[in-house]
Amino acid sequence: MRQIDHFIAGDTGGVASRFGDVMDPNNGGVQARVALGDAAVLERAVQAALAAQPAWAMTNPQRRARVMFEFKRLVEANMQQLAELLSSEHGKVIADSKGDIQRGLEVVEFCCGLPHVMKGDYSGGAGPGIDVYSLRQPLGIGAGITPFNFPAMIPLWMGAVATSVGNAFILKPSERDPSVPNRIAELFLEAGLPAGIFQVVHGDKEMVDLILDHPAISAVSFVGSSDIAQYVYSRGVAAGKRVQAMGGAKNHGIVMPDADLDQVVNDLCGAAFGSAGERCMALPVVVPVGEDTAERLRAKLIPAIEALKIGISSDPDAQYGPVVTAMHKANIERWIQTAVDEGSELVIDGRGFSLQGHEQGYFIGPTLLDRVTPGMTSYQNEIFGPVLQIVRAKNFEEALALPSKHQYGNGVAIFTRNGHAAREFAARVNVGMVGINVPIPVPVAYHSFGGWKRSGFGDSDQYGMDGIGFWTKKKKITARWPDGGGDGNNAFVIPTMG
Ligand code: NAD
Repeated sequence: MRQIDHFIAGDTGGVASRFGDVMDPNNGGVQARVALGDAAVLERAVQAALAAQPAWAMTNPQRRARVMFEFKRLVEANMQQLAELLSSEHGKVIADSKGDIQRGLEVVEFCCGLPHVMKGDYSGGAGPGIDVYSLRQPLGIGAGITPFNFPAMIPLWMGAVATSVGNAFILKPSERDPSVPNRIAELFLEAGLPAGIFQVVHGDKEMVDLILDHPAISAVSFVGSSDIAQYVYSRGVAAGKRVQAMGGAKNHGIVMPDADLDQVVNDLCGAAFGSAGERCMALPVVVPVGEDTAERLRAKLIPAIEALKIGISSDPDAQYGPVVTAMHKANIERWIQTAVDEGSELVIDGRGFSLQGHEQGYFIGPTLLDRVTPGMTSYQNEIFGPVLQIVRAKNFEEALALPSKHQYGNGVAIFTRNGHAAREFAARVNVGMVGINVPIPVPVAYHSFGGWKRSGFGDSDQYGMDGIGFWTKKKKITARWPDGGGDGNNAFVIPTMG
């Protein structure tokens, strides 16, 4: 059986005592096994990072940026192969896998401009003969702990920024789809990144805890579910580390009475069901404003959802594929039953879907639930599957309150032709990322990504200038160069607040 090993000091291999199963979501069953690391594995990675990082940090930023340029070229040259590998373990269709890789590459592109963004501030003449300036310096060794649903994009959000600013980076990817992170490490090495600067240690909770407690690791970036994000944040901060931890989501799409409903239905089909709903920026809740809007929307949604094509991840005509594991499939189906038991109306039931020739695959048909209310646990919690819930709101204020009061605050969207309503909504909603007629408002790589409330612990976003800030520390230097003339003009004068 294929085995996926750690990638340490530029090489795979090593002895593992524990392994995890990597499933085949299209057909069911185990397709590979992944090594699950222990303290000795992490120590090897840390020692390799400690050996390589000082020279990498001293490499001038332009040369570091050139590695990013070359890495981008290599990923583009290997796009099809990477996407197929990603789809085979995750289950998303090839077009989605290419999107996963492409959104990560956009952060690499941002890092190609590193010499510019690493420039510090300078104040000449802050006092007599005194200049004050600041430098951004790397932290040393950083770690990333990532979820299964974007095995290329999220490691690149973290790893490209962390390494390009001069750190060594140790990635602990999801054990459910671990192959693409290893390929990323290989391509970084091929692009010229020194061995030991981007490494991959595989594992589960044991490895996460080892990372959080290791004294040589200065910063941890986490993305995953909220309870674990909160745990990682607390334990990492208690160990004196800089930590950012992004959590789960339950994003709402508000549909105003004046919205273009054909456009909304089209957007919802992609945003609620694309990638089988396994996106932290999916739109699993739609909130039509007013009964008339709700009825018109529902009438258009039903045939559109029924027309969705589900297939294996390599089927070019499929709009989405299987979910990641049998356990996740069972969880989603349980949530559908809970929603029914709580009194919502099951309009389209995706349970029991079977794909001919792939009967053991982890497929779920698209599911639509109407008359969902805020008191239901199936509304309050993340389902993370191809399930769309309709929550009817009487008016704008009621619609605005739903995402604002929800425990999660990752993304939200409003669909309207009314600029004032959109502006009011964007200003007042208590959510980190807002789309106006944009169903999945993931900000571009030169802005930053991050949710609020239980969708994000810590005070900094991923990528963009926030990413640069997270992965560097600022050194502030006050320099005095007296003229040495001996005429008494060299008395030291400290600049004062006055
Ligand atoms: P997960 O929380 O199960 O796993 C994330 C990481 O934590 C993995 O590397 C895993 O090995 C590790 N882990 C799992 N259990 C652990 C434990 N008990 N202690 C310590 N570490 C543990 O998440 P997932 O199922 O892989 O990914 C889906 C979740 O991630 C969803 O909740 C989704 O919303 C969220 N997500 C959030 C964002 C965001 O930016 N906010 C982006 C993508 C995914």
